[in-house]
Amino acid sequence: GSQVGKKNFIFKIVILGDSAVGKTSMIQRYIKKSMSQVYKPTIGADFHSKKVEITLDGQETKTVTLQIWDTAGQERYQSLGVAFYRGAEACMMVYDITSQRSFDNLSQWKSDFINKAGPREPERFPFFLIGNKSDKAEEGQRKVSLDDVEKWRKQHNNMPYEETSAMKGSNIDETFLSVAEYLLKRT
Ligand code: GDP
Ligand code: MG
Repeated sequence: GSQVGKKNFIFKIVILGDSAVGKTSMIQRYIKKSMSQVYKPTIGADFHSKKVEITLDGQETKTVTLQIWDTAGQERYQSLGVAFYRGAEACMMVYDITSQRSFDNLSQWKSDFINKAGPREPERFPFFLIGNKSDKAEEGQRKVSLDDVEKWRKQHNNMPYEETSAMKGSNIDETFLSVAEYLLKRT
């Protein structure tokens, strides 16, 4: 098609959650398959960028660039600076389905995001909840009950929920794509 009037859609997405839940693995799994760039800004975060083609119902295909921001280990000390959060258009909140603690800490991560990113309407901001390490459920290692997950996401404006396995690559592409589609629909 014509390039004239073609818009560039660039979305900043941040990934939050306790150390070792699999945030970096998820991003690597998602990025690996295509060209990607890694930037290491001095703020101590890594950001990865990936282009995706999206066709919404009845519309022409659009190219969307996702800028996915990953922590560089500072989440251990809950010391992510404002620059990490600023301008984020979506937030993926990750816990490990075998770690109750990582689930219990989600509320804290969410308020940290709201305090530092300062979204205009926090109750309408697109947060996505992700339970990673789903491969371990098959081995009976799920520790966080799905009832608790359901309760929590309902208390948080019906936050969408997905389970992924960065190790096996299950539901990774689909999860990032659903975030990208959501953001594109809102434009
Ligand atoms: P981060 O600290 O949140 O970035 O977590 P990492 O991506 O560094 O992963 C922490 C550990 O969990 C590593 O040993 C990974 O190999 C492992 N891991 C990550 N994702 C999965 C997964 O889906 N399943 C399993 N079984 N292990 C995973
Ligand atoms: Mg990491």
